[in-house]
Amino acid sequence: MKKYDTIFLDRDGTINPDPGYINSLNDFKFYDFTFNALKNLKRLTKQFCIITNQSGVARGLIDPDNLSLIHDHILNRFFDEGLNLLGIYYCTDHPDKPTRNRKPGIGMFEKAALDHKIDLKKSLMIGDNLCDIEAASHCKMESVLVLTGKGKKANVSPNINPTYVSENLFSASKILRDSQ
Ligand SMILES: [Mg+2]
Repeated sequence: MKKYDTIFLDRDGTINPDPGYINSLNDFKFYDFTFNALKNLKRLTKQFCIITNQSGVARGLIDPDNLSLIHDHILNRFFDEGLNLLGIYYCTDHPDKPTRNRKPGIGMFEKAALDHKIDLKKSLMIGDNLCDIEAASHCKMESVLVLTGKGKKANVSPNINPTYVSENLFSASKILRDSQ
């Protein structure tokens, strides 16, 4: 079982269903398997970090105050489950005008690394979108593409090649737990 400095998690389509631009805590729910999965992953790392693109803010579809409420809810739930979540880094950029914070840019990873002294090369990214995998490869970290959310439609290409592909976060946690 390989250990990671930090396990980075995408949000929508990875730890919660992605109906698109969630603008209310009422519309946010974790997958049923999320916390069982994270308990498996807790054996592989001492800390987690969420990195999420939230262009809905720039599009005027997500109210920043509602986003804060959702993120407070996530932070509280991780705390209640005994999971060390370093933070939730989010990027509100519109895809037409992305800064290097918007995945596949690595700005948010670099910020997290600086804030928490994370060794990115010894970390892992789990996400449902090829932009998650691409960002991970720019950071030279391993990655898992989960086939929930956008992962269902993702076509892995030779340039963007996740270390693992798995049905969802729970099956991914088992693969990682049982791997060398
Ligand atoms: Mg996603």
